[in-house]
Amino acid sequence: MIVMKFGGSSVESRVALERVTEIVRKYESRRPIVVVSAMGKTTNKLLAAANEAVAGRREQALTLVDELRAYHLTHGLPVAGAAAAELDRYVRTHFEWLDELVVGLSVVGELSGRSTDAIASVGERLSSLILTFALQAAGIRAQHADSRRFIITDDRFTHAQPCWDETYSALDGELRRMAESAVVVMGGFIGSTKDGQTTTLGRGGSDYSAAIVGAGVGAGEIQIWTDVDGMLTADPRIIPGGHRVKSISFAEAAEMAYFGAKVLHPATVVPAVEKNIPVLILNSRRPEVEGTRITSEPVACHNPVKSISCKRGVTVLNIRSTRMLMAHGFLRRIFEIFDRYKTSVDMVSTSEVSVSLTIEDREQLDHICRELKEFAEISSEDEQAIVCLVGENIRHTPGIAGRAFEVIRQTNIRMISQGASLLNLGFVVAEKDLRDVVAVLHREFFVDLDPAVFD
Ligand code: ASP
Repeated sequence: MIVMKFGGSSVESRVALERVTEIVRKYESRRPIVVVSAMGKTTNKLLAAANEAVAGRREQALTLVDELRAYHLTHGLPVAGAAAAELDRYVRTHFEWLDELVVGLSVVGELSGRSTDAIASVGERLSSLILTFALQAAGIRAQHADSRRFIITDDRFTHAQPCWDETYSALDGELRRMAESAVVVMGGFIGSTKDGQTTTLGRGGSDYSAAIVGAGVGAGEIQIWTDVDGMLTADPRIIPGGHRVKSISFAEAAEMAYFGAKVLHPATVVPAVEKNIPVLILNSRRPEVEGTRITSEPVACHNPVKSISCKRGVTVLNIRSTRMLMAHGFLRRIFEIFDRYKTSVDMVSTSEVSVSLTIEDREQLDHICRELKEFAEISSEDEQAIVCLVGENIRHTPGIAGRAFEVIRQTNIRMISQGASLLNLGFVVAEKDLRDVVAVLHREFFVDLDPAVFD
């Protein structure tokens, strides 16, 4: 049994749905459970409609719902005959319900988490049914499963967490049985409380759903189908010519994700890690490419560095204590302020009296600086970038830092961090230097590649 998860862009149109159908057909003998996101950008649009409605812009909200209706009716009905009529009815009923909800919200003028989830869940409820019909029309024996019967969650609407016992027992019992005899299709992202209220697992939650389902049924593999070939040795938006990394560990994937590679957020696949289930990143537009395999165990590799990840648009803050030399509590005070303003800090380096750190979200920066100035001198630099060399072997290969800094010796380095995770060496440079820095590092570390790990 395997889990195949398809993201929004993999099911965004009729052509995309046909592609998915052929991919599922190829894996039919492995008894797939298909977890699917809302089509294209549906979730964003549903939430935008909800927000327009509560802001009193009822017509705008209804227009957005209309656009979504037209989109689903044009792209989402890849079937003919009686089935088409049934699906058409189903889609229209959902949109009529949405119309009413939006009107209701515009009257009430208040959006609760519960209403947000009721609206946001419509994307996956529709896409999963549409895909079921599409598979059936193509002669694949497929059956729809309403995720809300299987993913049982607490009532933290908009970011609910599964109640593991109930969820795993539903998945391991009924869902497994369904999957023995047909391809099961279910919506990602959504669940329900024990008393039947619809919930969602948080934005991008379909990967999490796939991992939960995979862990619950004891899948042999979880495939995440995206629109990229997998993880690369360098971000293609920074430099072209990166190599595909065929296999990496979860720990490496986590470092890469935090610093740029947005392919998959590793926190979402924790249930899979715990059950030792490999996760594959695959491209639904190029299904013949073998993708990237992520496993719990480190993968043996001759090369110390697996990937260079980076994050642009970073601000460095330098915080220098004005009166707390040798005093404890300095770091606590600093981080309490960031916590209060819900601003996450990516990289930190400290000396006795100073702390440098990086943030990406500048929204609260003025408030943060005002509070910091009560006990510290502050300077900040915008337009910086974090560069990270990631690889399990970095921790026991001498000379990596030497080689890295030697090839970029002309570049001014603002901050350095190594040791926190043992498998990355990170530093900050000005954004204008980023492309050159990544290019020379890539030339330095990605020659003579281990064919078992790189393409
Ligand atoms: N459709 C949801 C979102 O856009 C969940 C997902 O696609 O993973 O966040």
